[in-house]
Amino acid sequence: MSTYVKNNLNSIWNQTLQLIKESQFFDPAVFNAYIVDSTLYDVIDDVAIIVVPLNLNKKVFDDCLPFLQQKLSEVMDQNIKCEIKIKKEINEINASQTAVKKEIILEDKLLDKYTFDNFIVGQSNRESHAAALSCAMTPGRFFNPLFIFGNSGLGKTHLLHAIGNYVKQNQPDKKVLYIYSEDFITLVVNSIKDKTIEEVKEAICNVDYLLIDDIQRLAQWGRSQEIFFNLYNKLISNDKQVIITSDIHPSELKGIETRLISRFSSGLSVGIDSPEFETAYAILEKKLEGRQEEVLVQREVLEYIANRFSADVRSLEGALNNLIFKSILFNPDIIDLKFAIEVFKENPAAVNHDDSLSVMRIKKAVCEFYGLTRQQIESKSRTKSISNARHIAIYLCRKHMDLPFSKIGAEFGGRDHSTIMSSFDKMTKMIKQNDMTAQAIGKIESKLGVS
Ligand code: ADP
Ligand code: MG
Repeated sequence: MSTYVKNNLNSIWNQTLQLIKESQFFDPAVFNAYIVDSTLYDVIDDVAIIVVPLNLNKKVFDDCLPFLQQKLSEVMDQNIKCEIKIKKEINEINASQTAVKKEIILEDKLLDKYTFDNFIVGQSNRESHAAALSCAMTPGRFFNPLFIFGNSGLGKTHLLHAIGNYVKQNQPDKKVLYIYSEDFITLVVNSIKDKTIEEVKEAICNVDYLLIDDIQRLAQWGRSQEIFFNLYNKLISNDKQVIITSDIHPSELKGIETRLISRFSSGLSVGIDSPEFETAYAILEKKLEGRQEEVLVQREVLEYIANRFSADVRSLEGALNNLIFKSILFNPDIIDLKFAIEVFKENPAAVNHDDSLSVMRIKKAVCEFYGLTRQQIESKSRTKSISNARHIAIYLCRKHMDLPFSKIGAEFGGRDHSTIMSSFDKMTKMIKQNDMTAQAIGKIESKLGVS
């Protein structure tokens, strides 16, 4: 590799040209036409590369190569061989080197299939979705870094790709790098081996968005962590957006240096949770959209799956795929509850699901539906929305559990038998008169797996 900086090369070449001129080896007209317009591009060991504009110049230089070498050797005080190149060749070499660098570093690993459009938003992921969208729209301004944590299969990777795809579409001039933590380690290890680590670091520092997935996997990699730490600091201090995912909260990351963890906590950390029934149901509907089987699957089957497999979205998808696979195998006319029960009859998540109703489950379902707390529906509050939800919960307890009114009263803040009875009557009438109420009750019942 060259040890000469550009200024030195210019000065060496100017002195050489001066010597050539003074030697009067060339006619001044030839010197001015063919020799002056040249540069000393580089010196590698004892080989000097001289660049000239055209093939014609190159011919003149090649014809008197020994003389040129002698003059340059005098200036440099060492024996030098010259190679004459025309400008075009050098440009091509430079371009190919830059292309190789780009290919190593900014390999585009964004998956088109994960977007904000096909990400279903519900209570469990509302915060992380909002924060991700905000970062995609206004990078580096509000939440930097954004740290999304949550168990496996809840949509963290989906959100990262969604950010990348959004930026690609709406701000095409911005550079986005999605990288899985283990791929980051491989990249660092390989580029140290290939001696391209400086180029890799430079390229990462040039991105506008760094999306780094499953950071907990950086844990045991000392050297890579150090490199990541430096890159991370540079990006953040240049207001470049960094978004990190992890399957645990930043404060619980083990094996990652505390100075790095404390930096992670300086932005915004948001959790992502298991989907509630509605979100799980909507995800299933989305995943089924446009598939041939869509028309065959009955609503109650999706409810059945949403109720049993919503610990994480990956399991939900897995259950749906399993159902579809079996339907291709057995080709039923319709995919109904009976078929689903048969498909999942040996699956522990389905078999061990507790279908039995309890007052607690009813209260919980009603509260979730109306966005209330259990204390609110048990309270004495007469606020319309609260008392309406309370009447519905009471109605459901009586209808599906057939509990005595006094027992239900005890479960709802010690109300007496007649109050509960009038709540039940009121609701029974209202269902007949008011479609909205009937629909709301229907939805809560299907969530509870009763109807
Ligand atoms: P994680 O990275 O948290 O382990 P993923 O992002 O890989 O989870 O999600 C697992 C699967 O679930 C993916 O196929 C993803 O598309 C899907 N998924 C997760 N959350 C949602 C959601 N809210 N809407 C639609 N699909 C989702
Ligand atoms: Mg993931």
